[in-house]
Amino acid sequence: MRLYDSATRQLQGLPPPPGPIGMYFCGPTVYARAHIGNARPFIVGMWLRSWLRSRGYKATLVHNITDINDKIYAAAPGRSAELAEEASRWYIEDTGDFGLGRADFEPKASESMPEILALIEELIERDLAYSADGDVYYRVHRFPEYGKLAGRHDDDAPRNPSEEEEQSTLKEDPRDFALWKAHKAREDTWWDSPWGRGRPGWHIECSAMAEKFLGPAFEIHGGGLDLIFPHHENEVAQSRGAGRKFAHIWTHNGMLRFTGEKMSKSAGNVVTMRDALDEWGRETLLVYYMGAHWRKPIDYSEGPLESARAQAEGFRNVFREDSTPAPEGSWDRFVDALDDDFNTPEALALMHQWRDHGLLLRALDVFGLGSLAELEESPPEIASLAERRQAARSRRDFDEADRLRAQIEGAGWEVRDVAKEPGYRLVRRS
Ligand SMILES: [Zn+2]
Repeated sequence: MRLYDSATRQLQGLPPPPGPIGMYFCGPTVYARAHIGNARPFIVGMWLRSWLRSRGYKATLVHNITDINDKIYAAAPGRSAELAEEASRWYIEDTGDFGLGRADFEPKASESMPEILALIEELIERDLAYSADGDVYYRVHRFPEYGKLAGRHDDDAPRNPSEEEEQSTLKEDPRDFALWKAHKAREDTWWDSPWGRGRPGWHIECSAMAEKFLGPAFEIHGGGLDLIFPHHENEVAQSRGAGRKFAHIWTHNGMLRFTGEKMSKSAGNVVTMRDALDEWGRETLLVYYMGAHWRKPIDYSEGPLESARAQAEGFRNVFREDSTPAPEGSWDRFVDALDDDFNTPEALALMHQWRDHGLLLRALDVFGLGSLAELEESPPEIASLAERRQAARSRRDFDEADRLRAQIEGAGWEVRDVAKEPGYRLVRRS
């Protein structure tokens, strides 16, 4: 199995099964109902773990929740901890509704403080960080590899300062970033540290949580492409600077585009995961995400979603007909597609060719779509009409059989004659 690695800009092979494969996928900062774009790293992470396990790997997925962050303080002055807790519950609930299960660990920054503090202390000992008036900053110029992951050079920075890179007169160099921030009066949570009261920066949280659950070296680090700089660049600086090997492969998923623009809460185009699930349902959304390669951007608009809905219905229809064995080698081609950079669009195209129930179900199960094989049960009155129609046919009373068929159709169902017992199948008309 191989995956495209953002750091080396080429495909990198995974060790042979059983691995182990440690996976860390950056999760959300919790201050509002998550938008549908946030579903992608979650879904890609869950699918990849599912696929790796089906290939015999021992895969462990960590998906963190950033519950200490400037955005949370700004969104709920005086009650940031309550908001973070509430929004964490929303996130668990909404991602849970995709029916893909949960990551093995879902750590919160607020529950990882000893590890965060220890890592900062280690960076100070290594002269890679310095404290200044209650803050602690990472000393970027001491880490020569800085910028390599995102392909940035010294003169680029600070081109894209995030809220974490706010200018401070305490910094030795404008590129330095905060590992620890001294407590400010408007912030309603804080932790004690050797540098005084304060709270951690966003980037150090992930470095510490990844190591806490996966150790100093692990296989895959994922997240949205928007996190490559500065977030992931800074994670690399912290963890590799501290002598850890850290992630072998960096997988950055493409962004969701909403009417051509990258959708983000700050851009004002807010379609929440909740809205999307309520409007389209989990099966349509999962097929929609399968339809684009995980590295590529994906448009969130009616067209691709309608197409995904029709494709899901197409799979359901396969199970309404009799199973036909797939040509030899079909499964191998499916495996090849997924083992080669987890090419879900190609896997999806192959699956659409199959009429083999067992094979198709096995593939759908990888993506949490096994439910498409469960046909809707007909209500008892429709089942009874169908039985009477079957009896009429047996006694060659075709007029009565036709009358009953029309009655069934009038109720929104269709009766199809099949070879298998009892000789017909009831299908809800779409
Ligand atoms: Zn992160």
